[in-house]
Amino acid sequence: MKGHVARKRFGQNFLVDSGIIAAIVSAINPQRGDTVVEIGPGLGAITEPLLARVDHLHVVEIDRDLIARLRKQHSPDRMTIHEGDALAFDFASVGQNLRLVGNLPYNISTPLLFHLADYAENVYDMHFMLQKEVVERMVAEPGDADFGRMSVMLQYRFWLEWLIDVPPESFDPAPKVNSAVVRLIPKPAAELNAKNLGKLSQVVLTAFSQRRKMLRNTLKGTLDDAGFAALGIDPTRRAEDIPVEGYVRIANYLS
Ligand code: SAM
Repeated sequence: MKGHVARKRFGQNFLVDSGIIAAIVSAINPQRGDTVVEIGPGLGAITEPLLARVDHLHVVEIDRDLIARLRKQHSPDRMTIHEGDALAFDFASVGQNLRLVGNLPYNISTPLLFHLADYAENVYDMHFMLQKEVVERMVAEPGDADFGRMSVMLQYRFWLEWLIDVPPESFDPAPKVNSAVVRLIPKPAAELNAKNLGKLSQVVLTAFSQRRKMLRNTLKGTLDDAGFAALGIDPTRRAEDIPVEGYVRIANYLS
């Protein structure tokens, strides 16, 4: 692997399948002046084809050895290297209309997606390779076994599109799981009608803390029967059956 030993703690599974790499770059369809930020460039599988299509690329990488390689290979006028943890990185510092891309480290994908969701206003779109199981949770609909907190909080702010299925053999080392590439496009502010995002997040967290219990029980002390009646929501329904818009109405009622 170009003289680098993959580090498990950094979720390093390097893409080696040229067909998949080409499909990802083609789905992103980068334009010269775009502000593209790649999370975890690694050994450059997506970085190189991206660099061929944009004037300048931003990358966020945590592994010092990989950063040293990147510095050797690329001049600062083509690539800005942000050294550090993407979970703590201030994406707003890069600018507006960001196009975020990455074959993300799977061990931190859930907290990373929640962190990135906070920058929706600075983002034009995002294309990520993730564990297939995570993509299933992202796009799940009410009533699906996978419908949960991640589905609600991401679907509230983004349009999601499942793009490409990727088998383990497309990586070196091969992960134990299947993968998929997903696109997220932030919804315009006019579509976001939650009065208080913190309240929405709190209601969703509480409701899904016991996903198979009746909402009357999970939201006890938060929403009483009169509240359910005012909202026209049946209190005997379970968290996994309530659509995103239902959670927004509950949160707005409590705000
Ligand atoms: N983009 C390369 C590819 O497709 O072959 C590497 C992908 S590998 C799955 C994940 C990359 O994210 C690695 O380069 C790893 O060092 C980096 N990484 C892991 N944790 C990170 C973190 N917290 N912040 C930034 N980069 C991280």
